Amino acid sequence: MYKTIEDEVLKKAAPAEFRAEFLQHEFERLHTFCILIYIASIVVWIAYDLILSFIGGEPFTWRSLVFFAIFSVLVITLLLIRNARHFQVLNLLFVFAIAFGTRLLIEGLASDHQPAWLLLAASTTLFTASVLPLSRWSFFGAQIITWFFLNPFYNTGIEHFELGGVMAFSYSTFIGGLTLYSFLTLRKAKLYNFIMSKLLLDQAYIDTLTEIPNRRSFMTRANLQLNNVPRENEHYLAMVDIDNFKRVNDVYGHDIGDEVLKRVAQDIKGVMARYEYARLGGEEFAIYLAGVRREDVQSLAGELCRVVREQTTQPPVTISIGLTRVLDGDTLNQALVKADGALYESKHTGKDRYTFHP
Ligand code: GH3
Ligand code: MG
Ligand code: MG
Repeated sequence: MYKTIEDEVLKKAAPAEFRAEFLQHEFERLHTFCILIYIASIVVWIAYDLILSFIGGEPFTWRSLVFFAIFSVLVITLLLIRNARHFQVLNLLFVFAIAFGTRLLIEGLASDHQPAWLLLAASTTLFTASVLPLSRWSFFGAQIITWFFLNPFYNTGIEHFELGGVMAFSYSTFIGGLTLYSFLTLRKAKLYNFIMSKLLLDQAYIDTLTEIPNRRSFMTRANLQLNNVPRENEHYLAMVDIDNFKRVNDVYGHDIGDEVLKRVAQDIKGVMARYEYARLGGEEFAIYLAGVRREDVQSLAGELCRVVREQTTQPPVTISIGLTRVLDGDTLNQALVKADGALYESKHTGKDRYTFHP
């Protein structure tokens, strides 16, 4: 099954909105990781700055303090950012600052040591960028900025065609290509996994016929509301059942019966859009209304009966509704039993109506 769906996913290119959603999801999950990576990079930078000052005899200047201030502002901004698109830009600024700062540090070394340290710094920066939740353009940007500031040929005196130059050039090409390739491959694999999970979750929580949430989804979401939405206003539970549905199937056939189910599901979705609704199974639906007053529930239930009754599409059907107030201490199952009792009452007093559990 997994393989079949996977093949299906791999055949299609990931649509743009999936990519954006994936990026946001990745960023939210890796937010703390990004903060740690930034802090670790800054700590390493400061450690090298201090080593150069105290052991290397380079003066610790105001420039170090300026860089430290810039890094701090960038980390604080990252702490506050919640949108993945903002992070793409912020990361370019961070790579800019850290690569520039590192270049200045390395310029404090003897010139024959500089190319190797520049390469080391460039590969560390690129490897780190390749594991961050970046979009392609932002990673390409990080590559360009890194090689601009940490270019081992700029101002270091090595020539392209001497031994050191050829080695530096080969290593730059290798590390640039490797980090680019691993970034793109990992990103694609993670994107496909994300799409797979979304597809499978949809299949697990959406009713295939009516395309509204199913029982599993309802039990999860209604329980969340039952436990978490404060009870200043009341909570109600509604059970909905189509009247004489067996006859619809018998007279018009099962396919038309299915069409009626879809139509009623859409009516419920239209009237109850603000609440948790689902198809529980067969021709039964449930709605959990949190934070409402009894008058609101009455008018919503009346409205839903009217909308279904007045549908112009054939065959005409009606619904019965059972309502119960969810009391403090009630479990969802207890409330469902009460609503079912009220539904029974609606059925036995003429159908096409709603009844409250006493
Ligand atoms: P009542 O007014 O008392 O509810 O009468 P009813 O005929 O609706 O009785 P009941 O609720 O027992 O009937 C449910 C029927 O719904 C029986 C079953 O054939 C039909 N049904 C259940 N699931 C589906 C489905 O997915 N598609 C179709 N077309 N029919 C279904
Ligand atoms: Mg039924
Ligand atoms: Mg029925």
